[in-house]
Amino acid sequence: MILKIETGEQNPILRQKSAAVSKIDKKFKKFLKAMVETMLAKDGVGLAAPQVGVNERIVVLNLRIDKKKWQTIALVNPIILDASVATICDDEGCLSLPGIVGEVERFATATVKFLDENGATRILELEGLNARAIQHEIDHLDGVLFTDRATKIRKDK
Ligand SMILES: [Zn+2]
Repeated sequence: MILKIETGEQNPILRQKSAAVSKIDKKFKKFLKAMVETMLAKDGVGLAAPQVGVNERIVVLNLRIDKKKWQTIALVNPIILDASVATICDDEGCLSLPGIVGEVERFATATVKFLDENGATRILELEGLNARAIQHEIDHLDGVLFTDRATKIRKDK
């Protein structure tokens, strides 16, 4: 099922802090599946629950494994445990802010702790595009949009 994407810089759903997930049940797993389907349908590298109108701490990512391989993953209640001192500045966009891009400085690597779709605790070290994506998506859970951090905001060509 493809979910409707919330858009707009002042959209109150995108601007509030989301609550932690307390129960992982069958209905919840169905929602995760719909989030993944929506992300893939919209060609996103990540999607946070507030972007589909749900203010809960849930993120899905399409992780880049190598040049040809991508893998989807759901992260429930994700937190960044550790990040590199090094940062990288690069272009970012967002499904909730269509048509614009901007440069955002992010940690080059990030270690993230989360619950998987079965409720098991997992720790993952991410780098490159994957590290950028998780930082962008966790921002969504705190009501922060990339335009709050970006420089050189411009129209996407
Ligand atoms: Zn976004």
